[in-house]
Amino acid sequence: MVVMEAATLCRVCGWSLDEPGWVDGLPQYVICDCCGAECGVDEHSAEAARGYRAGWAARGYPWWDRGHQPVGWSFTEQQRELIPAAYR
Ligand SMILES: [Zn+2]
Repeated sequence: MVVMEAATLCRVCGWSLDEPGWVDGLPQYVICDCCGAECGVDEHSAEAARGYRAGWAARGYPWWDRGHQPVGWSFTEQQRELIPAAYR
């Protein structure tokens, strides 16, 4: 039996992606609706994820796809805690 390990939370912002960003260690090049990070490009390492997050923060946490932005959304501690620990 093969166990598929699928990562569905964005490594940069912790948002729940529409589809897994990583499957069995391979990037799926999904773009996060929230922070706009592309899986396998912008967060392939902890350093890359932190760097992208810092740039996103400096711009005031703009949404990549504003049509998906919940009313009254802000980047909270709750969402920050959803970021996989190794990428915070
Ligand atoms: Zn994100």
